[in-house]
Formats: sequence, structure tokens, C-alpha cells
Amino acid sequence: MARVVNLPQEVGEPDQYGVVGHPVEHSWSPFIHGMFAKVAAQNLVYRLFDIHPDDFRRETLRLMTGGVRGLNVTLPHKQAAAELVNELTPRAARAQAVNTIAFFENTTLLGDNTDGVGLITDLEQNLQIDLADKRVLILGAGGAARGAAPAILARGPAQLTIANRDLGKARQLVETFARFGPIEAMSYAYLSTQNRYDLVLNSTSASWSGETPPAPSACFAPGALAYDLVYGKGLTPFLALARDAGSGRLADGVGMLVEQAAEAFAWWRGVRPSTNAVIAALSIPLV
Ligand code: NDP
Repeated sequence: MARVVNLPQEVGEPDQYGVVGHPVEHSWSPFIHGMFAKVAAQNLVYRLFDIHPDDFRRETLRLMTGGVRGLNVTLPHKQAAAELVNELTPRAARAQAVNTIAFFENTTLLGDNTDGVGLITDLEQNLQIDLADKRVLILGAGGAARGAAPAILARGPAQLTIANRDLGKARQLVETFARFGPIEAMSYAYLSTQNRYDLVLNSTSASWSGETPPAPSACFAPGALAYDLVYGKGLTPFLALARDAGSGRLADGVGMLVEQAAEAFAWWRGVRPSTNAVIAALSIPLV
């Protein structure tokens, strides 16, 4: 008697996603979303799209009308993306920056910002930090600080201080987010006269060029967590400064990167992927 063989179920065309940036070839997002798709059994492809700022609007709309269902947005397009979309989630509206776009069939472009929640998930779930009543210092006042500040304030810290070379930019952030909790702007020079901080986040881009932000070593409380948002660089000058100053714990931004990607993936696909294996695969020892 003939054996009955079940033919593999026909698989449709994969759904298309990707990341837009300029430059973008350094992005780890295709690897991360590829691993998520595998573990969550999702039929999708994820590509890199290098788009010049002058062409951002036209090319992004072309991708969407060409069938792309969702995009991550990285430097330098996060603010332009907030202006392009038809609707913003409340957290994207607060940050005035979009790092995730979803395209709906009724032609609505919806923009979200998952950077803040990615950072908080990494701090709370992966690193077991309770932000309530803590003194928190953010170095830098760019797009990443803009996403992080309201997310941190929502956790009830005792104080959030933003230090930046261009003090005017730090003051702007304080003005924008003052209604969400205790936040102040400070120059690097004035920082050395202040109390120490339980959590110091380096949201400057200094580590990419091997530089140290001009933070005094006195800003780290004993046992403080020093967190560099940069990833893939090992022990950055900022983390080395924190270690030498007696900071108890060091972390880089790989957990935030993977958690913000998981949030975007869950929003697009309705399935929350597990992140532990992806973080482990991408982690570099901080020595
Ligand atoms: P922006 O370009 O918007 O801001 C850069 C900030 O860095 C500014 O505040 C700037 O200060 C400061 N800065 C640059 N060089 C120095 C330096 N040598 N010393 C002191 N301050 C300096 O960048 P983003 O905010 O978007 O990104 C910042 C960092 O966060 C990047 O390294 C990025 O890779 C990382 N990031 C990580 C994410 C993750 O998931 N792990 C997500 C998003 C960002 P000034 O205004 O005075 O010029």
C-alpha cells in the first residue's frame, strides 16, 4: 500500500520590513529581527535601506506603497519620521521622535518610539534596577535622551539631571518634560559640585569615537550602575571611567537595542519574541 506523504504547507511571500538610516550598513537590526522571526515562526524578511536625508520622505513612502509593512528608523531620520507619519503614539509624541513606523492598509502611517521602553525593560527586567527614588544622571541631550527622559520620569526617580555640552539643548529637554517629574539641566562643570548618582547613563555619541564625555568621576555613587547606550564597543572610555571611580556595575546598550527591537516586533506582528538568547549572542565582555 502506498505511503501517504503530507506535502509541506504552501508558504506565502514573506512580509517585508526593514530599517532606514544614513549610514545604515553598521545596523544590527537585520540579525536581531531575523532571530526574532525564527523563534516566533514569523514569515518575514528584514532589509537595510540607506536613504539620504534629502530623499527620506519620497523614498520612505515609495517603500510603503511598494509593500513594506513596517520600518525601523535610525539616525539621522527620527525627527523627520515624526513629521512624516499621520499619527503618533503618545510616547512618540512626547519624544517628538519616531524609531518605528507601521503601515496600515487604510494608508495610515503610525509612528512609535520604542527607545524609552527598550531602555526601561533592560534596566528593570534584565539588570533588575528599581528606578523609584533613585538619583539618575543622563549625559547628552540628543534624540536618545529625548526618548529616555520621559520613560525614566514615569518610574518616579528622586531626581533626573541632564548634562550636556550645549546646555541650551539640556534646558530644552527640561522645559519639555518638567510636567512629568523632577528634572533639571546642568553643565558638566557644575556636575562635580553635586551629589552622586545611583544611575549614570551615557547617551552621548562620544564612545563611537573613543572619547569620554567630560563627566567628573565624583558623579558615580558607590555601587552605581554606569550604562553606556553605545553597544558593540566593549569597555568604552566612559565605562572605564566609571569602573575606576568605583561604580558597582557596568552595562552597555545592547540590551536596550534588543528590547526596543522586540517592542517594535511585537507591535508589527502581535507576538512578543523572547530576547535573552539574542542579547547573549550580541553581548561583548565589558573588560
Ligand atoms: P544625537 O546625535 O541626537 O546626540 C548626540 C549627543 O552626544 C549630543 O547631546 C552631543 O552633545 C553629545 N556628544 C557628542 N560627542 C560628544 C563628546 N565628545 N563629549 C560630550 N558629548 C558629546 O545622538 P542620539 O541621542 O540619537 O544617540 C546618542 C547615542 O545613543 C549614540 O551613541 C547612539 O548609538 C546611542 N543609542 C543607542 C540606542 C540603543 O538601543 N542602545 C538607541 C538610540 C541611541 P552636544 O549637543 O553638546 O553636541
